[in-house]
Amino acid sequence: MSDLIRDDGRKFDELRPIKIEAGVLERADGSAYLEVGGNKILVAVYGPRESYIRRLLEPNTGVIRCRYNMAPFSVDDRKRPGPDRRSSEISKITADALRPALMLENYPRSMIDIYIEVIEAEGGTRCAGITAASVALVDAGVPMKDIVVGCAAGKVYDEIVLDLSEKEDKEGQADVPIAMMPRTGEITLLQSDGNLTEEEFAKAIDLAMEGCRKVNELQKEALMKKYAIE
Ligand code: UDP
Repeated sequence: MSDLIRDDGRKFDELRPIKIEAGVLERADGSAYLEVGGNKILVAVYGPRESYIRRLLEPNTGVIRCRYNMAPFSVDDRKRPGPDRRSSEISKITADALRPALMLENYPRSMIDIYIEVIEAEGGTRCAGITAASVALVDAGVPMKDIVVGCAAGKVYDEIVLDLSEKEDKEGQADVPIAMMPRTGEITLLQSDGNLTEEEFAKAIDLAMEGCRKVNELQKEALMKKYAIE
């Protein structure tokens, strides 16, 4: 990996500074707060609990519902409140990224609600939301096969780089957000926006997986900090 540095002083394979805290809300069954670069994200989890929406009730499995929401003040241009195409898409892909880790067949007729609130956004909020949601699910005591973690890589100024900032996302040539279960390496989300050669795409996935593994260590540290017996 080259030693050249990026606009914000990072190396190509360097993550932005990350802070994760588990169990930050009193009322929710599980919660987490995450900062990565300029992103600030709060997640609340409720459940598994009896499904309060009868039409969503499944007799043989539990269901997860996920709401990703950006606060109107989370970006420079006021974000119009309420759901839009982008937030509906991110809500869906987040639920899809987390579902493989959950043993929902153990919770028939039940529901798990995941609320992701982006308080400040600075690029990469979908991955940060998945990372924080997974910590909140563990905090809620939901049994999981693994802690799902999200991280993106992309192409900026012809270089494959890790964890794009908002500026890099806007000015760059490609963004490849992924989520994975680090124990098995199973990818649970893979999106790609922009143009990459086959070789660059493979390099971006490898780099994003490497990023995921680093972020996963911080997820585990946050949970140990909350739950380790002194
Ligand atoms: N963004 C914004 N206004 C919006 C949506 C997004 O300013 O209405 C910014 C925000 O910083 C976000 C970034 O653009 O993190 C990149 O958005 P994208 O849709 O690629 O999703 P993300 O990278 O956050 O997962």
